[in-house]
Parts: sequence; structure tokens; C-alpha cells
Amino acid sequence: AVQVRDIHKRFGTNEVLKGISLQAHKGDVLSIIGASGSGKSTLLRCINHLVVPDQGEIQIGNDILRSHRNRKGICQTDNPRLLEQVRARLGMVFQNFNLWSHRTVLQNVTEGPIHVKGRPAREAADYARELLGKVGLSTKCDAYPAELSGGQQQRVAIARALAMDPDVLLFDEPTSALDPEMVGEVLRVIRQLAQEGRTMILVTHEMNFARDVSSETIFMHNGLIEERGHPKDLFDRPQSERLQQFLQPMQ
Ligand code: ATP
Ligand code: MG
Repeated sequence: AVQVRDIHKRFGTNEVLKGISLQAHKGDVLSIIGASGSGKSTLLRCINHLVVPDQGEIQIGNDILRSHRNRKGICQTDNPRLLEQVRARLGMVFQNFNLWSHRTVLQNVTEGPIHVKGRPAREAADYARELLGKVGLSTKCDAYPAELSGGQQQRVAIARALAMDPDVLLFDEPTSALDPEMVGEVLRVIRQLAQEGRTMILVTHEMNFARDVSSETIFMHNGLIEERGHPKDLFDRPQSERLQQFLQPMQ
């Protein structure tokens, strides 16, 4: 469903991504693990050009987003006309939910479908209610984000991403801002999406969850993919010393 080819990104002299390639086919659940600062969030943001890569390609279906750094040092998407189209096919869920605080839960979920996809308000609201039901929030449609727990807010964010019918869902540490008692309810929703065959790329520190739910795990170190494979192999038989070290505290 999505192919990422040779993504490079630097901030000033800090080379954060040094050539990353990966692909997620339909139904794949890719988990990305690695130490803080290894470039995981930057990679995820490069996939939807929220951060524009210095070079490399993102392909989704037949659409290919390329980018380059111009003479002034500014990174540009080569074909900006494709940008919105590609982004609409990539749903993103952030660590800090990023909900619109002055809109209700329902409005948060209908905003994209109405204003980006041009769906009729009524239809968008019906679909939003269905999705909010799916994530266990049918009773919260008229609440404002501030009236919800972190776990509930994150589930709204997931419903909001789903409302755009994305081909691929990108999750950046969706549970790391949550109190421990709320992690489970969010992981349950993500697990259910995996079981439904959703294509997902998930940056996470929840190693047991990653091991359980993913079809492939990627270990990043210093802007490169250091090791990749089936999660059972990766977690049980890490080959590289760096991955062994990274996993050590969890033994
Ligand atoms: P964490 O596990 O802590 O979330 P990460 O693997 O997601 O870490 P990134 O957020 O991708 O790491 O950051 C990688 C490096 O890029 C860090 O050194 C960070 O300081 C730098 N960086 C990220 N975004 C920017 C930015 N917008 N401007 C400058 N430097 C940045
Ligand atoms: Mg990060």
C-alpha cells in the first residue's frame, strides 16, 4: 500500500535520516522501534511530507511524492498537487492527540471528511457516529476534548483518522502520553484495527504490543534501519549488538 524509498533528512548539520526504505503492503502492521532521537518521528512525518525530506520517494498506489532540497536549502515537495491527495490516504495519529479544542468530538471527526473530501455534513456525521461507536465513545459525541480522559481523546483521534478512509494509518507513540491505566483501551482499538486488516505503521515503545501485533518490526538506530524482520525473530533473536543492547532493559 505504501512504499518509502531512500528517505534522507537533515536539520542543519544533524543528519537525522540517512536513507530509509520500507514498504507496507495491504494488511501489514509495521512497528518501528528505536532509541529516543533515532529518527522515528521524523520518518513518520516524512511519509506524509509533514516534514519534507531532503530526498527520496513516497509511493502510495500510483502516486509518487518526491522532494528535494533547493539551492536556498529549503526542502520542497516536487509535485505539490499530489500532496493533499496522498495525505488523504495516510491517516496520522500523534502522541498528543492534536484534537481541535474548540470543536466537539463529533466535529473533530467530521471536519476532514466535510472540508477535505467534500462529504455532505449529514453523511459525515453518520459515519463519525459509527466510528465513535467502534472506538467505544458513542456517548461522547457532543463533549469537548478537555472533558475527556487522555485515552478517550486518543480514541477520538483514531476515529478522526479513520473517518478519512485512509489506506494506511500512521501512529506515532499513540500511548506514550497516557496514564498507564489508559494505555490498554487505546492498544485494544489498535489491535482491533490490525485484526480487521488495516495497514498500519506504528512507532511504539510498547515492545510486547509490537511483538504481538506486527507483521514486521524495524529497529532504527542513528537514522538508519539497523535490523528488521518478523517481530518474533527480532525480539527473541536480535542479531546486532545495538538491538541486543536496546532490548536488554526489557529482559
Ligand atoms: P523519541 O523516541 O524521543 O520520540 P525519535 O526517534 O522520534 O525520538 P525524532 O523526533 O525523529 O526522534 O528526532 C530525531 C532527531 O532529529 C533529534 O536529534 C531531534 O532533535 C531532531 N529533530 C527532530 N525534529 C526537528 C526539527 N523540526 N528541527 C530540528 N531538529 C529536529
Ligand atoms: Mg518520536
